[in-house]
Amino acid sequence: MPDGVLRLLTCGSVDDGKSTLIGRLLYDSNLLLEDQLSALQAESGDGSDLDFSYLLDGLNAEREQGITIDVAYRFFATEKRHFIVADTPGHEQYTRNMATGASTSDVAILLVDARNGILTQTRRHSHIVSMFGIRHVVLAVNKMDLMDYSEDRFSEISEAYVTAAQTLNFDTITCIPVSALKGDNLRKKSVEMAWYRGPTLLDFLESLDTLEPRTQQPFRLPIQWVNRPDADFRGYSGTVASGQIHVQDEIVVVPSFRKTKVDRIVTMDADRESAQAGDAITLTFTDEVDAQRGDVIAPSAEPPDSSDQFRVQLLWMDQEPMLPGRNYEIKIGTQKTLAVISDLRYTINVNTAEQVAARTMNANEIGVCNISLQRTVAFDPYESNKQTGAFILIDRYTKQTVAAGRLEYGLRRATNITRQEFNVDKSARAQLKIQKPCVLWFTGLSGSGKSTIANRVESELHALGHHTYILDGDNVSHGLNKDLGFTDADRVENIRRISEVSRLFADAGLIVLVSFISPFRSEREMARSLLEAGEFVEIFVDTPLDICEQRDPKGLYVKARAGEIANFTGIDSNYEAPTDPELRLDTTKLSVDASTSEIIEYLRNKGIV
Ligand code: ADP
Repeated sequence: MPDGVLRLLTCGSVDDGKSTLIGRLLYDSNLLLEDQLSALQAESGDGSDLDFSYLLDGLNAEREQGITIDVAYRFFATEKRHFIVADTPGHEQYTRNMATGASTSDVAILLVDARNGILTQTRRHSHIVSMFGIRHVVLAVNKMDLMDYSEDRFSEISEAYVTAAQTLNFDTITCIPVSALKGDNLRKKSVEMAWYRGPTLLDFLESLDTLEPRTQQPFRLPIQWVNRPDADFRGYSGTVASGQIHVQDEIVVVPSFRKTKVDRIVTMDADRESAQAGDAITLTFTDEVDAQRGDVIAPSAEPPDSSDQFRVQLLWMDQEPMLPGRNYEIKIGTQKTLAVISDLRYTINVNTAEQVAARTMNANEIGVCNISLQRTVAFDPYESNKQTGAFILIDRYTKQTVAAGRLEYGLRRATNITRQEFNVDKSARAQLKIQKPCVLWFTGLSGSGKSTIANRVESELHALGHHTYILDGDNVSHGLNKDLGFTDADRVENIRRISEVSRLFADAGLIVLVSFISPFRSEREMARSLLEAGEFVEIFVDTPLDICEQRDPKGLYVKARAGEIANFTGIDSNYEAPTDPELRLDTTKLSVDASTSEIIEYLRNKGIV
């Protein structure tokens, strides 16, 4: 008899009967409370079939009002086993919630409607649960009562599913014909389907052997916070993600790989000799070894890996498509930094399991890509540890979780490539020029006046004896960026390259003037993040669209309106105005001369010129 708790995830579309299935299972197992029972009878009204979905839809209603979290966990127990059901709402944003539920579940129950059979959605759910490491699936072929309990129909669907799921990494696939509404093959064997010789759903769930428990894996403690109430005490707090730890165990702090031993295991109640997965603890060390929030504490004999470049598998969940080259926040356990998708290798067609070449990913697509992080982090491949191998990407502005994924392996560039240290550095180069390097980043619509003003500012600086360089469309789009067009993805890559070049020029000690529409906030912030504090000066050339269009210095608006230019900023492509620029120039009020003076004045005040 397997022991321990079994964690289930139910997946299906809105009307496949997820809520009814779980509701009926609880009812048949006499697991409903009195008040739930009478509410159920009252709600179902006329004495015909009880509406079991009511039991769970109550939860859905709460969720829609934002009262509870996205994934609701329900607990129940039979004589043989305890269960936790991750119940995820079936509507639109289903994959977002599914990914959360899948990463902690042992078994997925995929519901299909016997009338519809296997749908793209079923295949997509299967890919997702496989990706997040669920090894056991149950295909519950529901609504068999509406198909006259047909054995042929069941065989047809289950055979199609088993064939489709062959490429996925499941240890067991169990197809069960059920009627969630009538209770067939949930707890009791169906009289109507005497031809079915397999287990009922509950029999199956009660007897399933699951993976090695988290406590058997190597110890991992992602540090949530450094506990330093006074000068005498320094502890590292968090919830044990996996494994066990004892006082005096030899440990290592990753990614610094500094070694020490556990001195004390402190908990809310008292000191302990040992702790295990799930426990909230504070560790102290025998030596003065510095660790910080986000680091992972592990046994020195079995440490996690560290890297800043990864091959990953990703589920894109946002309605906005993924943009390679854009900076996203990445969260791996308690570690947070920035990540860029450096190379999208392919996406997966869930219907055929084929790998498809792609430049972007849309909502609910699965893909494989390389990501590059701003700093080195501790990790385990997801395959060996779900806690330290999972990550999410967060949009920096909307704060939405846009993707969830698994780290497959580190690409090891961090350890193989070391930066060459040069004797002459940025400040030495700048000193010789008697100036402070900086980047003046002009952003605004086409025709707003970026080039005109930048040109005038450069002349002024040059006259004052400063060493400058201007980057604008003309000297970049014909060379460095000639392979890029004007799609959102290309614009992101365009600005990424310009940012890197302006960083190099600033490193050369120059005052760099960048004149690009640079329509997206994220990329301008990325450019800023490459430089030291105070070096990036964002100048918003704020000219309304109608004025730009009247000026139309290059005749581009006329062409865009005539439909000859696609993706034109302000017309059929978005411009995200800066919210907090260093300088904002309203060219409807300021002449070119006045704008130039304002910029020079700013640079003087900051001691740059
Ligand atoms: P961008 O580089 O932003 O695409 P340009 O500098 O090429 O814009 O074009 C701006 C046009 O607007 C020029 O023809 C410029 O002479 C004209 N203009 C008129 N008034 C102003 C002003 N106050 N500031 C900047 N440009 C102005």
